[in-house]
Amino acid sequence: MLVALPALDDNYIWLYGRENCPVIVIDIAETEKLFAYLAERELQVEAVLLTHYHDDHTAGVASFKRAYPQVPVFGPPETREKGAEHIVAAGNIRLPHYDIQVIESGGHTANHVSYLTEDHLFCGDTLFSAGCGRVFTGDYAQMFQSLQRLKSLPPETLICPAHEYTLSNLGFAESLSDPAIVRQEVLQQRFTEVRALRAENLPSLPTSLGLEMQINPFLRAKDIKEFTRLRQAKDNF
Ligand SMILES: [Zn+2]
Repeated sequence: MLVALPALDDNYIWLYGRENCPVIVIDIAETEKLFAYLAERELQVEAVLLTHYHDDHTAGVASFKRAYPQVPVFGPPETREKGAEHIVAAGNIRLPHYDIQVIESGGHTANHVSYLTEDHLFCGDTLFSAGCGRVFTGDYAQMFQSLQRLKSLPPETLICPAHEYTLSNLGFAESLSDPAIVRQEVLQQRFTEVRALRAENLPSLPTSLGLEMQINPFLRAKDIKEFTRLRQAKDNF
């Protein structure tokens, strides 16, 4: 199962699990809906994975740990104070039911990481559908490198970002006329599909890397100069 639980204004708490296995939970913005969801379906949690330290990804960790003290919480160094007790960097996490690859994806924050398991990429605020995260405590070169790393994954990889920003990102991508930066006909199809999903209050996610390679200007930027120009233009869009 793959579930995007809406949280706060536009965050998602992701749950992933194979049938009859405990689930993993990625980022915990808040716990009310999460606890209700887990209880209703009698789900066990094998681990919590944090992508970065921002409150809208970690504010629920303390209350989660009180309710589920036996569940390990993994995260990069910047999440230690938010409750991660297993500090990760590039490499692998081996859990009883899941093998998870940790991919460094700094830029939005300096230590941001993404998690890859069974062709599902949980990329926090690094990569969004048709967009990417703002550069805060990392820098542009780091963000560009991170996107190059994520881009090298197989096209069928399912991308599970932490925010529902797709419509606004598509609006920005639509405003770019350079065909090298956006395939407009593919983008228009995606726009139609996402408008219909959002009209029913359904998530526009996950997306696939193959689709993003056609509509995401930040993945299609050819060098760091172009990437920085696009990211700054989006900041002011
Ligand atoms: Zn963030």
